[in-house]
Amino acid sequence: MNKTHLGHTARKRFGQNFLVDNNVIQNIVAAIHPQNGQVLVEIGPGLGALTEAVVARVDKLNVIEIDRDLAARLASHPFIRDKLTIYQEDAMKFDFTKLAVEHDTPLRVFGNLPYNISTPLMFHLFTYTRTIEDMFFMLQKEVVERLVAGPGSKTYGRLSIMAQYYCEVIPVLEVPPNAFKPAPKVDSAVVKLVPHKNPPHLVDDIKLLSRVTAAAFAQRRKTLRNSLSEMASLEDLNKVGIDEKLRAENITIKQYCDLVNHLSQKCT
Ligand code: SAM
Repeated sequence: MNKTHLGHTARKRFGQNFLVDNNVIQNIVAAIHPQNGQVLVEIGPGLGALTEAVVARVDKLNVIEIDRDLAARLASHPFIRDKLTIYQEDAMKFDFTKLAVEHDTPLRVFGNLPYNISTPLMFHLFTYTRTIEDMFFMLQKEVVERLVAGPGSKTYGRLSIMAQYYCEVIPVLEVPPNAFKPAPKVDSAVVKLVPHKNPPHLVDDIKLLSRVTAAAFAQRRKTLRNSLSEMASLEDLNKVGIDEKLRAENITIKQYCDLVNHLSQKCT
C-alpha cells in the first residue's frame, strides 16, 4: 500500500489517513456550513484537505496538529497560511475553554480524527461541551454506531451513554475506505454532536456516572446486580426502579442517572 501522499509518508502512530475524495470533503464542509464570525477549530488538519475547503469559505481557522512536520507545512502553505492560527499541540491536552474565553464565543470543532485516539479524544471534548456549540467528526463507522446506540442494542455502551448525556448525536454521512490515502481497513462515517442547551438528564457527580457505566459494561453479560455489586446494593437498584436481573445494555440513560444521583445523595 502506498503510504505517501503529497510528498508526506503517513505516520501510523498519529492515525494518519488523508482524505482524497473531493465529493466527501465538499459534503463535510456543506454539513459544517462554516461562516465568518464563528470560532472554528480543526483537530488534525494533516495535509489540509478539509482545511483548504473550509478556508475557501471563511477568513479564520484555528488548527491543532500534533505532527511537527505537518504543522510546519501548513505554516508555509502559500494560499492558506495567513488565515490559520496553528497550535502544534496534542488535542488530548488542548484547553478548549481557554480558546472560547479568548474569543468570547463558543467553538465549532471539527476534524477527521486519528482513529487510534478517537474515543479518549471525545471523552476529553465532552468535558468542554459548555464552551462548544457543535462538533463534526469523521470516525470509524463502528464508533458512530456506538455513539448513536440506544438500550437493547449490542453497540449500546458507556460511549453511547456519555455522548448522549452531553450531546444530541446525529449521523451525517458514511464514507468508504477508498476516500482516504492510505485507505483504512474499516468503513468510516461523519457524525454531528450538538451539546445540549437544556440537558434532558443531569447528575450531581459526573465522575460517578462514568465509573458506574464503566463497571456496568465491563462485564456486559452479567446482571446489573453482579456487575455493580461493589457500588450499589440490591436496595439501591430497587429504590430507583431498576430490575437487578437486567443487564447493563437494557438500562436507559435516565435510569443510570437516577441511580448515580441516588448513590451520590446517599454519600452526602
Ligand atoms: N484532516 C486530514 C485529512 O482529512 O486528510 C488528516 C486526518 S488524519 C486521519 C488525523 C490527523 O490528526 C493527522 O494529521 C495527525 O497527525 C493528527 N493527529 C494525530 N494525533 C493527534 C493529536 N493527539 N492531536 C492533534 N492532532 C493529532
